[in-house]
Amino acid sequence: MMKSGIENILSVIREGTGNYKQALSLHEPFFTNSEIEYVTECIRSGWVSSVGSFVEAFSDSLQKYTRSQFAIPVVNGTAALQTCYYVAGIQSNDEVLMPALTFVATANALAVLGGVPHFVDVEQVTLGIDPEKLECYLHDISEVTSLGLVNKHTQRTIKALVVMHTFGHPSSVHRLKTICEKFGIFLIEDACEALGSWYDRQHLGTFGHLAALSFNGNKIITTGGGGAILTQDKKLAERVEHITKTAKQPHPWAFYHDEIGFNYRMPNINAALGLAQMEKIDFLLQKKRILAARYEEAFSNINSVKFIKEPSNAISNYWLNTIQLSDELVSYREILLERAHSQSIQLRPVWNPLHQLPMYKNCPRMDLSMTEFLSMRLINLPSSVGLIQ
Ligand SMILES: *Cc1c(COP(=O)(O)O)cnc(C)c1O
Repeated sequence: MMKSGIENILSVIREGTGNYKQALSLHEPFFTNSEIEYVTECIRSGWVSSVGSFVEAFSDSLQKYTRSQFAIPVVNGTAALQTCYYVAGIQSNDEVLMPALTFVATANALAVLGGVPHFVDVEQVTLGIDPEKLECYLHDISEVTSLGLVNKHTQRTIKALVVMHTFGHPSSVHRLKTICEKFGIFLIEDACEALGSWYDRQHLGTFGHLAALSFNGNKIITTGGGGAILTQDKKLAERVEHITKTAKQPHPWAFYHDEIGFNYRMPNINAALGLAQMEKIDFLLQKKRILAARYEEAFSNINSVKFIKEPSNAISNYWLNTIQLSDELVSYREILLERAHSQSIQLRPVWNPLHQLPMYKNCPRMDLSMTEFLSMRLINLPSSVGLIQ
């Protein structure tokens, strides 16, 4: 019975994509001539590296699209996150609250600064941090002091909360922001999966003090490798600009650096690719919504699987379409993945929760029962724009 159930799911995936023959990869970039033209123009100009007009144009297009005050392109999403943590003043031994159900970079970018990830649980509807559970937990374990929020168990300062918008679905960001204000901590958004997603008509990444975007090859738009930092605060934007450009004081010839800095500038050649991608973002998002609607329809008759939809009040970019397996199907997860791969359908299980990885297993955390429940059940479906003709 289960075996036919699994074959049924695979044929529903084929039906959703309208593609019965070809390999279905998880997420491929989508290019037309404009990418080739802009990159060629960039090479011909000679300005392929850290200075050039495409970086500025790309930054402008991000800023306009997201309606963010500032958008600063950098080398990748991980570097963007690290810069957010750094300019938020997070130092060695500071704790930062973050979901356990996220990509490992959310924690890595903090750990390299000596910060300590403090894992919190997610909610079923948004797949992001559960605001109610978080608030109860903070009342329990923390204390607002003149030095900031202190974890009563570890005596360390809790500096920030990182909200991650899973697979492009908006987290309960309004409620989480209120909690940050109440407890006096920074709000940082890991919006690496969320370009093109909105909550109450406001673009994700513009709710927090700082946010990170990613333009890796598998994201909604790509610059090859790349990322950006969004902020609404002029002072923070200036800090980000300074610190990502080796902390060099502007001068026509002299090299004077006034503090330790990173070299995280996005090269012009990557920005050329990114500008061409931004010019077609509405088209890409439209195709992604069509694909999501087809999956939703195709899965509506399958009881053993739930298709994950955008939360209410929100528009998701549907970066990676996702299903949740029923209790009955969980023990067949490996068989499902094996069968899919043997038919060239690239399914991917959600990440291992971070508290289960060796380097983070001793980090502070709350009860993570929803994270653990979902981690066994969520499966990403082939989501390339190219699947929709
Ligand atoms: C992709 C991603 C990152 C890292 O971005 P890179 O550009 O690959 O460094 C960080 N966090 C999340 C949630 C991501 O999906």
